[in-house]
Amino acid sequence: MKILEVKNLSLGFECDKKFYQALWDVSFSLECGKMLALVGESGCGKSISAMSILNLLPKNAEVIGGEIIFDGKNLLKLSQKEMQNIRGKRIALIPQDPMTALNPLFTVGDQLLEVIKIHCGLTGKEAEKKAIEAFDAVKIPCAKSRLKSYPHEFSGGMKQRAIIAMALVCDAEILIADEPTTALDVTIQARIMNLIEDIKRERNTSILLITHDLALVSEYADDVNVMYSGRIAETAPVDEFFQNTQHPYSKALINSLPSNRLKTLETISGQPPTIREEILGCRFHPRCKFKMDVCSTTVPELLETSPAHMCACFLTEKSDQTQS
Ligand code: SF4
Repeated sequence: MKILEVKNLSLGFECDKKFYQALWDVSFSLECGKMLALVGESGCGKSISAMSILNLLPKNAEVIGGEIIFDGKNLLKLSQKEMQNIRGKRIALIPQDPMTALNPLFTVGDQLLEVIKIHCGLTGKEAEKKAIEAFDAVKIPCAKSRLKSYPHEFSGGMKQRAIIAMALVCDAEILIADEPTTALDVTIQARIMNLIEDIKRERNTSILLITHDLALVSEYADDVNVMYSGRIAETAPVDEFFQNTQHPYSKALINSLPSNRLKTLETISGQPPTIREEILGCRFHPRCKFKMDVCSTTVPELLETSPAHMCACFLTEKSDQTQS
C-alpha cells in the first residue's frame, strides 16, 4: 500500500528575476513500511524533492505542477497551519547535520520535551516518561540523566540518535532521512543506519532515504530512484536495480563504488549541470559515453523496461524495440 505519492512534481527557483526549473515531472511513491532511496549526486534534486513533501521550500521556489498525496490530501495545497499538524508529527525529518539541528543553548531533554508538548500535548511527568522511552528506543544509555545534557556533551552519533528520538516520540508514519550519516564517522554510520532499519521493522515506519551513497542503498533500501539533474533516471526494487542496471548514469554510479573491488574504479567525467544551465534533450548527454544524436535534441521518457523497473534512456527504448 502506498503511503506517499509524489506525482509529476515540477518546480523551480526565481533568481535575478529569471525562473530556473529544478525538477521536471518527478514521480515516485513510498510503500508503507518500506525504505525508498532517492539517489544521486548533489544538486540532482533529491533534497528539494524531500523538502517539497514537508513544505519547507525556500521563499524563491515555485511549484509549477504536480501533487504530493498523503492520507488522501495533496500536501501542496495545505496551509502552513494544516502542515504543522503533519510536519514533525506524521512526517518527520532526520536532517543531514545533527551538529546544527540542536540548539546549543538548551538541554537535549528540554528540546525533546518541547516536541512532545507541541505534537503530543503532554507536559510534566507524562512528557518526561515519553522522553525517556524515546531515548531508550534509540539506545541512548542512562536516558533520564542524559536528558539534562547539552548538545555539546553528546557525540555526533548521540546527537543523531537524539534527533531520531524526536521523530519517534510522535510515532511519525514517515521518516525522511536526508543523508543521515554523512556528517558522522564511518564507525558510527552503520549503527545509525541499523537503528533506522530497526525502527522501520519494529514500527512499520516508512522511510524516505536521501543519499548519494549506493552502498547504503544496496544494504538497507527496498526500492531505489536514481535522480539526475532534476529528473528521475531510473527506478526499481533494489535487487532488480543492482542485477539489471539500465541507465548509463546508474551504471556509472555503481562502477564508481569503492566496494566494487573486482573492477577498476571509474569516475564520471564532468559535473552535473547547475539549474542555470540550459541543456536540450537528455540532461546527462554531455557526460554520457553512449550518447546518440537523438540524446541532444529529445528528452527520453521514463518507460517500463520490466515489471516495476523504469528507465529514461533511448538505449533501453531501443533494446525494447529490438526485443518486441
Ligand atoms: Fe546517454 Fe542518451 Fe541514454 Fe541520455 S538518453 S543516458 S545521453 S544514451
